[in-house]
Amino acid sequence: MKPIFKAHDLSFEEMIDEATIHARVQEMGTQLQELYFDKNPLFIGVLNGAFLFAADLIRAFESPCEIDFVRMSSYKGLRSTGQVTITLESKIEIKGRHLIIVEDIVDTGNTLYAFCQDIEKQEPASVAIATLLIKPEAVQHNLKVDFVGFEIPPKFVIGCGLDYNEQGRHLRGIYQLITSIF
Ligand code: 5GP
Repeated sequence: MKPIFKAHDLSFEEMIDEATIHARVQEMGTQLQELYFDKNPLFIGVLNGAFLFAADLIRAFESPCEIDFVRMSSYKGLRSTGQVTITLESKIEIKGRHLIIVEDIVDTGNTLYAFCQDIEKQEPASVAIATLLIKPEAVQHNLKVDFVGFEIPPKFVIGCGLDYNEQGRHLRGIYQLITSIF
């Protein structure tokens, strides 16, 4: 039986376990290492959800690099509002840098699409996107996501930094919603 976690009014069951996630993040770090070892990349984590994945990913990357965070939001409860708000911007000079944007999950792609358009204006040397999770069926934009941990169905998930109304970020696995309120 899969582990269950209750958050507020909802129940979630484990979809991807900790060991599987750890192994995949190590692989992603190795892949990035091969491509960026001499580029001093700037990892840009998208808060709050990507803080754990970003921490694990840069520790799997063994060459010089820098990290900063931005905060954007488009979700309220279980749904994307469709409106992206950037509430905290990176203070590091981006011009000429090799950027690796680190996301927890790409759902509609609204958040990253808006952010990438904004960031391209600052003339980085290159921009790549690394995400722990992607819901390919939900993506609404022509967004090139370069490094993907896991493709998942369009279900609401928590864990590894992802929350349901701030609960569940600490979970070491990814958990999917099993009790629908709709
Ligand atoms: P998008 O802009 O791609 O629709 O959504 C991106 C953001 O929405 C993610 O960074 C995350 O904060 C939130 N999000 C999307 N899908 C989920 C999900 O299944 N669970 C949680 N907790 N957040 C999600």
